[in-house]
Amino acid sequence: MVKLLPCPFCGGEAYTWSDTVCEWRAECKQCGASSLPHTTECRAAGAWNCRYLSNEIRLEGDTLYFEGLGTFKMVKA
Ligand SMILES: [Zn+2]
Repeated sequence: MVKLLPCPFCGGEAYTWSDTVCEWRAECKQCGASSLPHTTECRAAGAWNCRYLSNEIRLEGDTLYFEGLGTFKMVKA
């Protein structure tokens, strides 16, 4: 299981799923926001997590601080 950041839109829990063998998406359980399809679960998770780059974040040590969403502990792969 790839670690996903909370939804950038509603803060809900996200998960990854594949609709075919080679299409993975990360999607929010709460509001249904979804990443584009990617060839691997890892890429889909990466695309999902990168949405945060456009939000107010900062990284201190291994902890990410999100504007409005609190903190998120990074898990090193
Ligand atoms: Zn959401």
